[in-house]
Amino acid sequence: MDKQLPGDAADFAARKAIVEAAIAAAARRAGRTPTSITLLAVTKTHPASVIELAAAGGIIDVGENRVQEAAAKRELLDAHHPALHWHLIGPLQRNKARKAATLFDLIHTVDSVELAAMLNGARQATARPPLPILLQVNVGGEQQKAGWWLPGGVHPGPDLDRFTAAVETIVQLPFLNVQGLMTVPPFADDMEATRPFFVRLRELRDDLRTRFGSSQMPHLSMGMSNDYPVAIEEGATIVRVGTALFGRRS
Ligand SMILES: *Cc1c(COP(=O)(O)O)cnc(C)c1O
Repeated sequence: MDKQLPGDAADFAARKAIVEAAIAAAARRAGRTPTSITLLAVTKTHPASVIELAAAGGIIDVGENRVQEAAAKRELLDAHHPALHWHLIGPLQRNKARKAATLFDLIHTVDSVELAAMLNGARQATARPPLPILLQVNVGGEQQKAGWWLPGGVHPGPDLDRFTAAVETIVQLPFLNVQGLMTVPPFADDMEATRPFFVRLRELRDDLRTRFGSSQMPHLSMGMSNDYPVAIEEGATIVRVGTALFGRRS
């Protein structure tokens, strides 16, 4: 399977059908409707032609992890594929905030009040509607990973207090629209091992809803190629899938 080139339309259609069937099956197990889950096709490192292939196959949402790479691809594709939604799923450096605030339809990786404030200011200057964002949370407590440090989840304590105070500030920024939470849990071969981290993210979101309103923060961006079915069982509304759709990245 992995030796096929990502540029093959028939191969992509077959992979996408498998992923969509797995999404639907996981949704059914959880008593959810499959249409409540967005398949975000992660196209990082692949050429723009792969995004065209995905778009021709019915993909609407594409995920990139670098601002420059996404900008180059979007410039190539915007004219022919204006309906694509572009998501940033990689870390955002402060000096790229201005560019990111016009380039992306949803930024998954806001991990500080400072970054949020910069995006807010940058978005204000564009005269466009508030920028949709997600807050990235480090539920696995891994030093090398970005996001608010919350290995204890909703357990009361200074970590949760810090996070809640940050959210309180960010939700008041008028040119941002906080739509939920995102996480990248510790890698595990066995997808069941990631379940507790997905539960933790959902509980954090539900805790925020009791504080900020039950209609707030509809989205949970969680689940990748190796574990998206479990993430859906635990409430994911956006699954970020690269390898299972396009094969291994070189
Ligand atoms: C690369 C990446 C993905 C996709 O990973 P796959 O295992 O290829 O599905 C999802 N989320 C983030 C944040 C990524 O960087």
